[in-house]
Amino acid sequence: MYDDSEQINPRQRMRYDKLSPSSDRNRKLEAMARILILDRASRGYNPLTPEANLQAAEAFVGILDRGKVPAELYQKLYDRFTDYRTRLISNGQQSPNLIPELLLSLWTGANGLRVELLDKKPERPDNDPYECLICSDTGFEYVKSERLEGVRRCSCRQGR
Ligand SMILES: [Zn+2]
Repeated sequence: MYDDSEQINPRQRMRYDKLSPSSDRNRKLEAMARILILDRASRGYNPLTPEANLQAAEAFVGILDRGKVPAELYQKLYDRFTDYRTRLISNGQQSPNLIPELLLSLWTGANGLRVELLDKKPERPDNDPYECLICSDTGFEYVKSERLEGVRRCSCRQGR
């Protein structure tokens, strides 16, 4: 029986593993690349080249990996981002761009997706109808200036 396994040297095998469509990293890159394409399209921007889009996806995946976000939940996390963007716009605040740090904060934040999915979210007591208009209770405030864009801990979380 023909066995080609010996003909693949370790270097080549590494490359094959990288290209394997079932690898976790590839599933993440594919899922994120798709989200980035749709997000650009939804804002009326021209698509990036496939290479540039993949590069952007790699940057996003690298940061989301810090929070161990599984590929299966990327879409759900993006949905949460669009909800968040909608709430900010309704509150008269500026529309945030999709940046990886913001996605990560919507995952790890006090009211993030991780808490919601992994822990049972505590019910808000009736006598505490508080909802922060700055961060929509995510615990993170989106900040954008000429020089930087990112997220920082919302002032409502100080002392909590
Ligand atoms: Zn807040």
